[in-house]
Amino acid sequence: MFVHYRTQGFIFKKIDRGEADRLFTVHTKDFGRLDLLAKAERKIKSKLRGGLELFYLSEIEFIQGKTHKTLTDAILVENFPNLRKDLKKLRIAYQIAEVLDNLVKGQEPDNNLWQLFEETFSRLNANNLKPVIYNLIYYYFLWNLFSLLGYGPEFYNCSLCQKKITPGKIRFSSKEGGIICQSCSQKIKSSGEITLETIKILRLILKKDWKTLSKLKFEAKYLKELTLLSQSYFLRIVDEIGASSSTSPLIN
Ligand SMILES: [Zn+2]
Repeated sequence: MFVHYRTQGFIFKKIDRGEADRLFTVHTKDFGRLDLLAKAERKIKSKLRGGLELFYLSEIEFIQGKTHKTLTDAILVENFPNLRKDLKKLRIAYQIAEVLDNLVKGQEPDNNLWQLFEETFSRLNANNLKPVIYNLIYYYFLWNLFSLLGYGPEFYNCSLCQKKITPGKIRFSSKEGGIICQSCSQKIKSSGEITLETIKILRLILKKDWKTLSKLKFEAKYLKELTLLSQSYFLRIVDEIGASSSTSPLIN
């Protein structure tokens, strides 16, 4: 007899297998990331279909076989209908899925990551979002994910000399994992300038101060800076994790 495991999970990826099967990547509350086979899921009569769609939160049940885990049940908990009605929101959800696929490989449950999923999906599901908020939801997710994975960057002191940053020319080095003060910047070749405004945005993101963030007036130049910085830092982490894909999941 197989043991049946039950948990909740967010569905982030699906790939067709064979004639009618599908492989789902589900980030679960109790087991972390799972790749689960849904047998004959593409057949109309499959009882699994109702609970298996991208960006659903579902209650799932699975069994552990010799070579893979097989889904035996899936019941929809929340389908985030507003996310589905808006292509821009869907795009953010796909980018998040791609980042996760690159950076989270293991089966380790993580309560903080689960909370981050809940926060992110409920924000994407909200009505009447300003366009800039879409980007903010994404970067909030991205940088907090970096932090949860143990790559939380330094945005208060210089990453080299540890001195508190004072106003002036500040640079950011992905390799050193944070900001670099003016006097240290000569020693570091691969760094880019970063404005104090962008540093402040990133500090708020990592403090999880959504209330302040959502009221900020976001200028396009800071958003651009945030995009470039996120891209460079993401690639550094992908490099370190040794993930195979280096597709940039970033928005402009
Ligand atoms: Zn320094």
